[in-house]
Amino acid sequence: MRSIVKIAAAAALLTLAASCSPKVAITAHRGYWNCEEAGYAENSIKSLELAQKNHFWGSEFDVHITSDLVLVVHHDATIKGKSIHTHDYADFKDYRLKNGEKLPTLDEYLTQGEKGGTVLVFELKKQIDKAHEDYMVDKSIEALKAHGLFDPKKVIFISFSRNICERIAALCPGFTNQYLEKDLTPDEVIAKGINGIDYHQSAFVEHPEWVGQAHKNKMSVNVWTVNKKEDIQKMIDLGVDCITTNEPLLVRELLGGKEKK
Ligand code: MG
Repeated sequence: MRSIVKIAAAAALLTLAASCSPKVAITAHRGYWNCEEAGYAENSIKSLELAQKNHFWGSEFDVHITSDLVLVVHHDATIKGKSIHTHDYADFKDYRLKNGEKLPTLDEYLTQGEKGGTVLVFELKKQIDKAHEDYMVDKSIEALKAHGLFDPKKVIFISFSRNICERIAALCPGFTNQYLEKDLTPDEVIAKGINGIDYHQSAFVEHPEWVGQAHKNKMSVNVWTVNKKEDIQKMIDLGVDCITTNEPLLVRELLGGKEKK
């Protein structure tokens, strides 16, 4: 009898532990999942709107600068063979995304960003030199302020550029600022004043201890871009804070009540 009571008590403790375990956020990679098949386009305003309608915690997007210093939302550094940084914004006026939208400026994209509760996961792309990167950071902050989005609850920053992350750290205290290049341990990242990591899943397969090391430093841990069921489960089990994915509905299904909204 006593052992049955003990087993029941242990089971209750386990249930309590499971219900207290931290929640995991979902970020829709470049707006939405399989978006081109669904008639949307990555990094499009419509895809951001779709992520907002589905109430994903976050929606990721990428920002570059044109030669006439317009900030635009696009993943690749080139469009139809033209480098974004060597062409004026007007040179892309005839370009259409796969859903028919024109190339969105950051300003147009943030106009949609204001309309939903989904966090903007703002990737500032590496630029040709420090001056361009610094300009991009400063203009991004200005644009966020103009849209009422300069708020740590509404936007987080991510970048492969250490210079960009360090400038964000200096100019945006209190904001989550995640480094994307997995060449540094969380201890090394925090030592540079950068308060988060967003690493490819292979980093955490190779170094599962980095999740605990980051948490010990009070850093947030994001992982990109996790699309397969077994990989998603592995990342959930490792205790990451946020999963960036092309399959947000699958992640939602696997997380159940553990999804952070
Ligand atoms: Mg990106």
